[in-house]
Amino acid sequence: MAHSSEAAFVISIDTEMAWGLVHRPEQTYRYEQERADLDRLLDLFDHHNIPATWAVVGHLFLSSCRPVDGVKHPEIVRPEYDWFHGDWFADDPCSSVDADPIWYGPDVVESIRTATARHEIASHGFSHIIAGDPGCSRESFASEVQASLDAAASVGATLRSMVHPRNRIGHVDVLAEQGFVAYRGRRDVVAPSGLGDRVVDMVTGSERTTVRPLYEDGIWNLPATVLFDVDARPRTWRLWIRQMERRLDQAVANGSLFHLWFHPHNLRDRPEASFAALDRICAAAARHRSAGRLKTLTMGSLADQLNEQMRNQRQPVSAQLRTDNGDT
Ligand SMILES: [Zn+2]
Ligand SMILES: [Zn+2]
Repeated sequence: MAHSSEAAFVISIDTEMAWGLVHRPEQTYRYEQERADLDRLLDLFDHHNIPATWAVVGHLFLSSCRPVDGVKHPEIVRPEYDWFHGDWFADDPCSSVDADPIWYGPDVVESIRTATARHEIASHGFSHIIAGDPGCSRESFASEVQASLDAAASVGATLRSMVHPRNRIGHVDVLAEQGFVAYRGRRDVVAPSGLGDRVVDMVTGSERTTVRPLYEDGIWNLPATVLFDVDARPRTWRLWIRQMERRLDQAVANGSLFHLWFHPHNLRDRPEASFAALDRICAAAARHRSAGRLKTLTMGSLADQLNEQMRNQRQPVSAQLRTDNGDT
């Protein structure tokens, strides 16, 4: 194997309930079913003993909240986006999980933590502030991260990995400062566009779809390989799953990373096809794992392994991985 890193299979799930779309009133979504979807996902992961990284919106750690001197969550320095006006917390009901279960979710966090597979509880911000938008100051993001850490600590969880809302990366230095070890980067590999490349991608898996961890400024960027979204391919999803299996094979052959991500709602419109497809990918990963060719890890445990390798090597692994990253 030419590369220093071993092949790793990582799944990260943006877990947000009402918070994902609250600042996008033009989009609607039925949240009531989300707990049932999460339970089904947990069963699937337990079946294959695949751990996932659950990037939870910090407000969901709370059982209740209330305004302080008439201000909702004064601890959060408000972002100033040109696309959003009014108070960022205007829709927060300031009630409790019993009254408004789509705004709070300590029970959800508990289900994840008590599953058999050893999942990671990670951060998806406290209130879904978009860090990479110029309207989000460093101060604003730092307050969001601190509130998430505090809310997680209230249920005994420690946050070490970040998934930026809407994948808009920003203020990574704040994360490194707060002890985070990883964040999910955007996949910067160009997807195959020509017909020839697409065929290669389908048949053998294309090297160009490979993603690798990248160490930058004291934290690991673990780029996403692909969004798991069967809903978006009602007619071609079987073909697409085969393509994903080939990409997984490619990651195994290259000793690289296969990083799948989604929201629970990406499995909503076609649940049977979506869960069947996810089951197939997890089964393929479990087969590679049994053969000793692949590790199934969380973002945090992958970062731990990479840090361990870095400590054991004379040459800083950062330089090596940058070279490995090649033409990406
Ligand atoms: Zn609140
Ligand atoms: Zn989100």
